[in-house]
Amino acid sequence: MIWDVAICGGGPAGLATAIRAAEAGFATVLYERAEDVPDKACGEGLMPRGLAALSRLSVLRGIDPAACAPFRGIRYVQEDGACVEARFRDGEGLGIRRLALERALRERALAAGAELRRGAVRKVVPATDVAAVETDSGSIEARLAVAADGVNSPLRKAAGLDGAAGAPRRFGLRRHVQMAPWTDFVEIHWSDGCEAYATPVGPETVNLAFLWHGAFAHPTWESLLDRFPRLRDRVDGAPAGSEERGAGPLAQAARARFANRLALVGDAAGYVDAITGQGLTLALLSAERLLAALPRNLADGEALSRSLRRYDASLRGEWIRYALPARSLLALARRPELRKRGVRLCAQHPALFAALLRAVA
Ligand SMILES: Cc1cc2nc3c(=O)[nH]c(=O)nc-3n(C[C@H](O)[C@H](O)[C@H](O)COP(=O)(O)OP(=O)(O)OC[C@H]3O[C@@H](n4cnc5c(N)ncnc54)[C@H](O)[C@@H]3O)c2cc1C
Repeated sequence: MIWDVAICGGGPAGLATAIRAAEAGFATVLYERAEDVPDKACGEGLMPRGLAALSRLSVLRGIDPAACAPFRGIRYVQEDGACVEARFRDGEGLGIRRLALERALRERALAAGAELRRGAVRKVVPATDVAAVETDSGSIEARLAVAADGVNSPLRKAAGLDGAAGAPRRFGLRRHVQMAPWTDFVEIHWSDGCEAYATPVGPETVNLAFLWHGAFAHPTWESLLDRFPRLRDRVDGAPAGSEERGAGPLAQAARARFANRLALVGDAAGYVDAITGQGLTLALLSAERLLAALPRNLADGEALSRSLRRYDASLRGEWIRYALPARSLLALARRPELRKRGVRLCAQHPALFAALLRAVA
């Protein structure tokens, strides 16, 4: 059999692509290398536009209410005590356990008619009419292969699509704490070279994620928390709600988001940093845009190439909306004195912070 769409990677981007492809009537198969639903390092805050995209996938009703919590805006807290916050103007965000998100996406993909297989993709070999997708459990053929294999995407690299990252080396670590959230905002605490992100992800769970510049090697979760005394006091004594998960380096660039019979979605299509919390949103939107661009007949190589070019162009605007604020914030994060002044300025003029939030939400 020749599949229409073969997706490599079953994270949010791959699963969203599977749902949309199956719903569009394409014979769709997805390979995920993990035995079970992977519990990834993530701050788990889905911004309002991402939540709207999830809602368009009809996934929300499948999400366990004990594993999610709405948030209404973003609050910055810095070491000198300055604090500024803004509510989202349109809608709200959703803190959501990755396990719950991916379970719901998987169920929806199956219901839409996609076939989900366990297996690691080793290689994609494009030819004129099909791409051969080689996995650890055999080879299949598909009209279009989709690389949804995450930030370090070996498939992107193998296709010669790796670009120059151009952002500092940053790393992340997250763990959950079991306690009722003290706020319905995502709270971002700043210190020199490191930020802490507290996101409510359930009535009894807060996700605590740290992001830092590569300067300090292999920090522990506790040593990172010690850099934020206010936050440490908040969560003091609360039991751990999960094992630690780490990630990095975060920045990875793609020269283009397509090649012959291959499309890149989600982090595989390029990633700057988690500093603005837009990764999941971009993952869901890239799936949406890819399927909106595809022709009915994927066997027609010319039409497919044109549509992949259209997909690449249509994602450029989203990429700029993501990469510009992320790079600007990264530049501030590396200049603590400037960042402190900026946060104090926003604290004096909250409308300025609200306007900045609108740019990423
Ligand atoms: C510390 C941290 C905090 C973050 N916080 C947030 C946040 O608060 N909000 C937000 O929106 N984003 C956040 N992000 C970003 C977000 O996690 C990513 O943007 C999102 O996971 C991208 O989804 P994806 O499907 O592209 O990739 P992934 O989630 O990485 O999924 C890739 C999947 O592909 C599978 N895979 C890989 N290789 C193969 C292979 N060869 N064969 C088969 N399967 C394969 C993997 O097992 C994995 O399941 C954060 C990231 C980090 C690191």
